[in-house]
Amino acid sequence: EWEAEEIDYVFKIVVIGDSAVGKTQLLGRFTKDEFFLDSKSTIGVEFQTRTLVLNRKRIKAQIWDTAGQERYRAITSAYYRGALGAMLVYDITKRQTFDHVVRWIDELRANADNSIVVMLIGNKSDLAKSRVVSTEDAMEFAEEQGLFFSEASALSGDNVETAFLRLLEEIYGVI
Ligand code: GDP
Ligand code: MG
Repeated sequence: EWEAEEIDYVFKIVVIGDSAVGKTQLLGRFTKDEFFLDSKSTIGVEFQTRTLVLNRKRIKAQIWDTAGQERYRAITSAYYRGALGAMLVYDITKRQTFDHVVRWIDELRANADNSIVVMLIGNKSDLAKSRVVSTEDAMEFAEEQGLFFSEASALSGDNVETAFLRLLEEIYGVI
């Protein structure tokens, strides 16, 4: 961990999407390289950070997690304030969580800065046998909406690092 004066940029990123899609686990995987069997252990935490070097700049990724407010669609505008990036997560085994992505995009349009960089994440790619949302459909949707897209698994760790790094790079490109 670096001292504050050694950091070149702080990038605030919000993680959004329906309840139980794996938001908290993705965040834990990226910031601690861990998968917690008891997800509730992180309830109440506002954000987690990870510092890394990107394009020779020291960047602190400050990643905000909900404390379950998404269940009631009660995320306050303070959550989105100052966010440069968003991870919008759905579960590839739950059709409804993908159908709700449009609602989350509306929520972003209403509360976040216009220039926010959005990465759509189809989580739980380890559950291939239970897949109900095809990669092609999600890719096409993401392209239409101007979102970056990746499938990932917080459980296996597959693509998690790559997706977060891609988002950070894209943010770096627009600041
Ligand atoms: P959140 O409500 O979106 O924050 O979701 P959580 O991170 O709390 O995860 C919800 C449930 O899905 C928990 O039981 C997790 O163990 C499980 N889960 C999260 N990510 C994955 C994943 O990539 N694969 C599988 N198989 N289960 C996952
Ligand atoms: Mg959570």
